[in-house]
Order: sequence, then structure tokens, then C-alpha cells
Amino acid sequence: MSWFLNIINDLVHLVYPNNCVLCQTNLQQSDVCICTSCEIQLPFTNYHLLKNNPVEKKLWGRVKLEEASSLFFFEKGMLVQQLISLLKYKKREDVGEKLGDIYGKQLLRDASEFLNVDYIVPVPLHLKKQRKRGYNQCDKFAEKLAEHLKKEVVSKNIVRNTNTKTQTGKNRINRWENVSEIFEVKKPEKFKNKHILIVDDVITTGATIEALALKILEIEGSKVSVLVMASAM
Ligand SMILES: [Zn+2]
Repeated sequence: MSWFLNIINDLVHLVYPNNCVLCQTNLQQSDVCICTSCEIQLPFTNYHLLKNNPVEKKLWGRVKLEEASSLFFFEKGMLVQQLISLLKYKKREDVGEKLGDIYGKQLLRDASEFLNVDYIVPVPLHLKKQRKRGYNQCDKFAEKLAEHLKKEVVSKNIVRNTNTKTQTGKNRINRWENVSEIFEVKKPEKFKNKHILIVDDVITTGATIEALALKILEIEGSKVSVLVMASAM
């Protein structure tokens, strides 16, 4: 039955593209993607205001970060999961753009430490996966954030190597064996003495972000912060 509902959903989107992606009501002209009444129901963490927040703690002892935060709490079956799956599997890149817009405004409003970064780097996908999906779900989020923070997005300086077993393995010791081979920095000098903001969709174990951050931190004088759309605890 769900395939049928998906088709209906796609048709509704084709006919009424200007509806809220969550409740399907008609959007006001000033609204993009999500209507105001859905937006206020979203589970904001406000972790960017909280030192030693749970996203920072998740990576403690694994990689040294300047700042880390998440826009939303991620709960299965709830609104945020709906948003993320539209973004990743339904070609709704505009959802990422909307979330970047929301978070960019919050960070500016709160004069957040995140304003001190130099570059914004979306976690790259394996080339194969990106070809299959047609886009990297973090790109629009990164671009919109960059627009608000007046920073540059650097998405072509890091390559993600073909899938390794490390990402699916739960065993942390096995994971360490290849972790440094997952990502490759093409021009390390670009990141020398720079503060890099890594952005991703959902943080769960944090293994991917940890691997990427460790790779960047091999570069002299570099610093890393992390911002994600949603955090699963
Ligand atoms: Zn709505």
C-alpha cells in the first residue's frame, strides 16, 4: 500500500507544488516548503546555545571539535524523519535549503560561535551514491547556511572513497583500521590554518563525521566544528 501512497504523494506534489511538505496545506507566499504552523511544532534543540551539549559529548574523546550542534532532535516516525526522508529519497532538495535557512537565521540571531568558521564543507557522498541520488542532500543546506553566515562552501576538496566495511561495522576497533582511508583531502593547503564547519544530515554514532574531522585535523593549524540537521540520541 505504501507504494500507492507514495505515488499519490508525488502526484499531489506535481499538481500542487506549493503545499507544505508535512501537512499538505497551501503555503502562504512568504513560506517555503514548510508552513508556519508545522515549523513551530518542529523539535528544535537550541544546542548552539548550550555548551557541552549532547552532540559535543557524543564526540568527546574521539575528535577535538570547537563547536557542535544539531538543529533538531531526530525521532523515528516523527516530523523530522519525514523531512529527512523527503530530502534524501524524494528529490526534495528544497527541504535542505529550508532547514539551512532556518538554522542560518537562528545562528545570526544568537550571534553564535559558528559565525567564526572559514569554510562550510558538506560531508561528501561516494561518487556512485551521489550519481544514483542525483545530488548530495547536504549541499543545499550548506549553501543556505553559507549565504546567511557569509562564508564559502567548499565541496570539491574532499573525496569519499568507495564504501568500506567500516561504516556498517559496529565494532569500534575494526572501524579504526580503515577510518583514515574513507576521506581524502585533495588540496590540504586550502584548509591550512582554517576553521572548517562540517555539515551533515543526521548524526547517529558520529563515525562518519569523526572520520572526516580527523582527516581535516591532520592539516596544520586547522580547526573543525560540526553542524547537523538532526541528532539521533
Ligand atoms: Zn504544514
